[in-house]
Amino acid sequence: MDSGVSYDTLLEIARVIGGEEGAKILEILHEVGDITVEELAEKTGIEVNTIRKLLYKFYNHSIITSRRFRDKETGWFIFQWRLQPELLSAFIQGLKQKILKKLQVKLEYELNHEFYHCGNPSCPKIPFEEAMEVVFHCPVCNSPLKPLNNTKTIDFLKRKISEIEEELKN
Ligand SMILES: [Zn+2]
Repeated sequence: MDSGVSYDTLLEIARVIGGEEGAKILEILHEVGDITVEELAEKTGIEVNTIRKLLYKFYNHSIITSRRFRDKETGWFIFQWRLQPELLSAFIQGLKQKILKKLQVKLEYELNHEFYHCGNPSCPKIPFEEAMEVVFHCPVCNSPLKPLNNTKTIDFLKRKISEIEEELKN
């Protein structure tokens, strides 16, 4: 794609707009090129109505474009969708700025807080102040809370932030 937007970024945007289903649809659009709603439904297993809604969202953000032509055999009109090669870069830049800001706030939060966790993957991590209030017991499962090392999260956030900052420079 010549728009200066990487496939990964597009995928991320599709996910922001349409969740996992949005990402799935974008993947297929990227692979196939021109495709109808029905073909998308067949390939993804997502319901036609959901696909239509997501396609209109993508369309409104200038991520995809459509074309209509008459089927030579049946005489019926066929609508096909495809990725838009010249994406609105202002939209992309704006979205990146938003993601960047969110990541920076998150990083700030991670850096300034000490976290506690019960070890149960489905339970949330608890900031120190809250952990004190619940006397270091998980508010969800009541197991004792242990200090949580958030270095990995911090590293991940820092990496993501510098990636996006780098992309925004270009
Ligand atoms: Zn718990």
